[in-house]
Amino acid sequence: MLTSIVGYPRVGTLRELKFATEKYFRKEISADELKNTAKEIRKANWLTQKASGLDFIPSNDFSFYDNMLDVAVLFNIVPSRYSSLNLSPIDTYFAMARGYQGKMGDVKALAMKKWFNTNYHYIVPEIDDNTEIRLAGTKPFDEFEEAKSLNITTKPVIIGAFTLLKLLRYTGSKTAEEYVDDVIAAYSELLAKFNKLGAEWVQFDEPYLVYDLTESDIALFEKLYSGILSAKDNVKILLQTYFGDVRDCYKNINTLDFDGIGLDFVEGKKTFELVSKNGFADGKILFAGVVNGKNIWKNSYEKTLNLIDNLKSKGIETVLSTSCSLLHVPYTLKNETKLPQKYLEHFAFAEEKLSELAELKLLAETNYVNENLYKANIILHKNRPDCDDLAVKKRVANISESAFTRLPAFEEREKIQKKVFCLPLFPTTTIGSFPQTSDVKANRTAFRKGNITESEYIEFNRKKIAECVKQQEEIGLDVLVHGEFERNDMVEYFGEQLNGYLFTEKAWVQSYGTRCVKPPIIWGDISRNKPMTVDWSVYAQSLTEKPMKGMLTGPVTILNWSFPREDISVKESTYQIALAIRDEVLDLEKNGIRIIQIDEAALREKLPLRKSDWYSDYLDFAIPAFRLVHSGVKAETQIHTHMCYSEFTDIIKAIDDMDADVITFEASRSDLQILDSLKNNNFKTEVGPGVYDIHSPRVPSVKEIKSAIYKMLDKIDPEKLWINPDCGLKTRGIAETTASLKNLVEAAKEVRHENNGSV
Ligand code: GLN
Ligand code: ZN
Repeated sequence: MLTSIVGYPRVGTLRELKFATEKYFRKEISADELKNTAKEIRKANWLTQKASGLDFIPSNDFSFYDNMLDVAVLFNIVPSRYSSLNLSPIDTYFAMARGYQGKMGDVKALAMKKWFNTNYHYIVPEIDDNTEIRLAGTKPFDEFEEAKSLNITTKPVIIGAFTLLKLLRYTGSKTAEEYVDDVIAAYSELLAKFNKLGAEWVQFDEPYLVYDLTESDIALFEKLYSGILSAKDNVKILLQTYFGDVRDCYKNINTLDFDGIGLDFVEGKKTFELVSKNGFADGKILFAGVVNGKNIWKNSYEKTLNLIDNLKSKGIETVLSTSCSLLHVPYTLKNETKLPQKYLEHFAFAEEKLSELAELKLLAETNYVNENLYKANIILHKNRPDCDDLAVKKRVANISESAFTRLPAFEEREKIQKKVFCLPLFPTTTIGSFPQTSDVKANRTAFRKGNITESEYIEFNRKKIAECVKQQEEIGLDVLVHGEFERNDMVEYFGEQLNGYLFTEKAWVQSYGTRCVKPPIIWGDISRNKPMTVDWSVYAQSLTEKPMKGMLTGPVTILNWSFPREDISVKESTYQIALAIRDEVLDLEKNGIRIIQIDEAALREKLPLRKSDWYSDYLDFAIPAFRLVHSGVKAETQIHTHMCYSEFTDIIKAIDDMDADVITFEASRSDLQILDSLKNNNFKTEVGPGVYDIHSPRVPSVKEIKSAIYKMLDKIDPEKLWINPDCGLKTRGIAETTASLKNLVEAAKEVRHENNGSV
């Protein structure tokens, strides 16, 4: 029995790639130095994998920013506005990822979207009628040879043709169909090269296959692979799927000439049933995704080995694999020095998952029932210390129906709030965080390490808050924020103050580009001891006449950006968190905070990929959880929420049903496509579709912002429109932030004036 993984994290055990890339962006190191760091990381990854005994070691899972962007560049899918900047290849690549503003021109970044149901973001490549798809790069081959020079024959990994064509953004008049021949030719050329280089296997990632597919999707998939597979020659092809099951095309992929098929047995609700009912094509190898690539709990060997036995008994040749790339879990437990062993022994990060594969392999090959390894694993799963809190369980069980409805209804509240706040037309605000400059981070670190006292720590943050408030008043914003200087991360900050959470030190997971997050772990039942944000908000409010937004993270986001428990339902955990945040909302209100923003940045992220599961598996508890959080406030308290995306066209009713008073969201990077559906659905909630992209350092001009506002006004009732950036500003520098916000306020003023609103 052999073992495989779909992919490995690449940011470096201690985020070396992130730091090097950021240095490169600041022009502190050269491109060669950056490339060297990357090479070291790849080498370390490969050697770790080899040492673990892994049989199929991936290559080309590395990326400087994103694998989708890599494929686009590899196949020459580069819009001319980037290539015409005449930058070096790596700078053109980064210009596509982050935008470019400099001597050579001024262009925005490509759109960025969440990768399926994960918190990883991919870059959405754009294709136009002039794009000539062809093999134009060497990255996959270079990395294959690089591993070869270390005596490792890898399995190159690349996003497959179908997923690529489905996720591309078509900006011309041509459709996917019209690129099929060129795509087949480009992938065929890639295979020809790998043949020459002596690759044994190539893995094509086709996660798009786990969505609901139409007849024409399936036809497209078949057409692409009938072409590509005829070019495979000596290379074996692994069709890798993940994040769900492939119920719509299981039969089709079995008849095509793949050598291996990778299926997800963890998230794929129907994967086992599909294999059992339909069988598995003779001569193909099943890469069984049995080790969870998304969560950090130790594998249950009992469950996994039962499954493997079952597959074996059907005569299926099986390779043990992960359910998806390990990109979505942290590197290693080795750097976790603080957590007690009684908790740590329940976890497996990427490196430990390699060991699990090795152990499972050993157990499957020998008569595992006799192994201590196996017994120890069973005992471990039976013992979870310190996780039950009966009072919390009881409180959740006793939530009344009425606690899910805020009264009075929206329309009445809106009238009341217009009166009490007296905000101008198109009120301006920001999403919460202000630049996390090095002194802000240093202050937190010093406090954490015990180098400064609590009062010194608080004093520093208060000074920062005061500066931030003053700055916002000078800029002329209408609804202010305190700046979130006390927060490392919008979820970790709350998790740290809630009972039931565990924290890691170095367990970073890439979110996009150089941005990493360190999701906390929900270990037990969740509750709140005391107010978490009230002091900061009250202090900030005391400095200004303008309304100060209280700033919280919502229960769905807290849950979605944590590693969830697997011993109780996600719904149960979400309701536990919702009750804790509800208490905080009421405390803020009691202390004079009149606007409270409850961020649900990640609500869409865990929306099931298949429509039929949207409500039953998710929205039916996610939306009520949010309502539970704010239903207890007075009519004149204004509830905001914020979301980091704008693809909620399909769930627009559910979003409106959250019953917030105002929602701000990302819109600028996706060309305001959401506006039509807001209009068509009579969206009642007031909206602030971000007028500029904060993921990029470029400063938007007044003219640009005004034109975004006017586009919005075509579709949105002026009485309902807010003006704000599309997300928090914590990753930005101070200079660009001030410049951008000044332009934003100026743009709002001019539009107000032009609309005869009060100025
Ligand atoms: N209030 C948070 C901030 O501004 C929201 C962040 C987010 O949406 N990811 O940082
Ligand atoms: Zn956001």
